[in-house]
Amino acid sequence: MDVREAIKDKKRIVIKIGSSSLQHPETGDLDYNKMEVLVRELCNIRNSGKDVVLVTSGAISVGKKAVQIKDANHDISVKQACAAIGQSRLMMVYQKIFAEYNQVCAQVLLTKDTITNDINRVNAHNTFIELLNLGVIPVVNENDTISTFEIKFGDNDTLSAIVASLINADLLILLSDIDGLFTDNPRKNKNAKFIEVVEKIDDNIINMAKSETGSSVGTGGMNTKIHAAQIATKSGADMIIANSSDIHILHRIMDGRNFGTIFVANKEKGFKLKNYVKDLKDEE
Ligand code: GLU
Repeated sequence: MDVREAIKDKKRIVIKIGSSSLQHPETGDLDYNKMEVLVRELCNIRNSGKDVVLVTSGAISVGKKAVQIKDANHDISVKQACAAIGQSRLMMVYQKIFAEYNQVCAQVLLTKDTITNDINRVNAHNTFIELLNLGVIPVVNENDTISTFEIKFGDNDTLSAIVASLINADLLILLSDIDGLFTDNPRKNKNAKFIEVVEKIDDNIINMAKSETGSSVGTGGMNTKIHAAQIATKSGADMIIANSSDIHILHRIMDGRNFGTIFVANKEKGFKLKNYVKDLKDEE
């Protein structure tokens, strides 16, 4: 079957959205319209009988806004405090919009420890499965309030792939500020070509991703997306990078249409999520 046709039959979908996709570029304030479209799309996918998980960034940037911190360089403790402020604010907005669609959502915050510690990992897995069985949409972020570099995933692209692997999802969608993977950075090279399907992540693909996305709010460039694709595809999930400029793209993708770059699942026998996470290096 065609890889796009097969999307219609996916059962468990993780969708990741980054800070820059949730904010007005002019002010950094939350874009409620975008959040509303996002939540509506998620609820509609859920209503079609599929399990849905949202991985969302924004805790630190929303927190910074709330206490009017403007400069980019400050101590980790300031970021952690901002995450505590911002995460609850972010959830407040999500809860409100999900409630409009009569959809229950739940907050799940993770650190690297959650995956590397066997007991924590099993607990987290069980919680997710229980939530999905209850018809709930889990809303996930890194627990930035307590995460220092020893226990940090680093970015939410990686985190979303880890979540997809943890819950045996069959599709991960990364909503980004770019259409997908190009042969070179399209913002710098006019001849860069768009790639629709990646069957295998080889050195060629890894080298294409070395160029940056240009976003200043999120932490994930194309490199981290390829890394996420490695985790997702080895775990048995397809991964799609798609542009968040119109979040309606989600139902178009679910209809099996050709949007974004799709990395085709390539399940690796004996893939151990724990080992993968243990070796993650924080780049900060
Ligand atoms: N976890 C961070 C936050 O919510 C963002 C990390 C990322 O965007 O990759 O603020």
